[in-house]
Amino acid sequence: MVTGGSRGIGAEIVRTLTTAGAKVAFTYQQNASAADSLTQELGPNAIAFCCDSRDLKAVRATIEVVTAKLGPIHGLVNNAGITRDKPLVMMSEEEWHDVIDTNLTGVFHFCRAVIFSMIKRREGKIVTIGSVSGEIGNRGQTNYSAAKAGVIGFTKALAKETAQYGITVNVVSPGYIDTDMVRRLPEQTLKYALEHIPAGRFGTTHEVASLVRYLLTDDANYITGQVLSVGGGLAI
Ligand code: NDP
Repeated sequence: MVTGGSRGIGAEIVRTLTTAGAKVAFTYQQNASAADSLTQELGPNAIAFCCDSRDLKAVRATIEVVTAKLGPIHGLVNNAGITRDKPLVMMSEEEWHDVIDTNLTGVFHFCRAVIFSMIKRREGKIVTIGSVSGEIGNRGQTNYSAAKAGVIGFTKALAKETAQYGITVNVVSPGYIDTDMVRRLPEQTLKYALEHIPAGRFGTTHEVASLVRYLLTDDANYITGQVLSVGGGLAI
């Protein structure tokens, strides 16, 4: 189950997992045409669901349908996320809540909806896409940095609660990855970012998706509660 799987990093995760032979359900919020073109590209092993991560009822209903269609959920990838960047002095209450509700509460909703079944089955893997902004903070992103730091604490606590059941819970924390989210940033911000990335370039969606795939395999059974950065050295 991949949230926000219709575009960007999420779409590449869906591609990577279906190519590896998994059946993948993915969600999107509004852009149905992006979701449709991905399912057309990948065939019957990728199924799209319109489901707003902010809505617990919708999340529970989606998990029920996915389980009925594909069987119990082995891996949950919490990828859906948004930015509403502004310096705090100009940030509205709505911009704060939009980001916290999607990027942090959405993770609670999906984890809450799958965790009991994973505990019962004594297996399951959860990967949440964090951000270097949640590790080191980023100006103009108090809302986003708070939400992404929040998923780190959430992940560590849930990892401690569930390790005894053979469940792993980790964060993959990208730096600047070439997607719509980054392409929307002002030219000046991108130039400043490039100057501060030790690797001297933005990352690719493939470089994030391949780590997520690894964390969903049995090879990663002993890795839990960790934050793994994919940022070309940005978080050092
Ligand atoms: P994109 O903007 O390219 O794609 C976002 C995806 O999330 C879309 O599929 C979108 O669906 C979906 N989405 C947004 N809000 C909701 C919601 N409320 N419910 C369900 N789905 C939703 O983002 P990226 O691929 O760039 O980012 C993916 C993740 O990686 C995010 O968590 C982001 O914070 C994180 N990240 C990205 C970085 C980057 O450099 N790109 C860096 C660090 C972290 P729809 O198209 O319908 O709106």
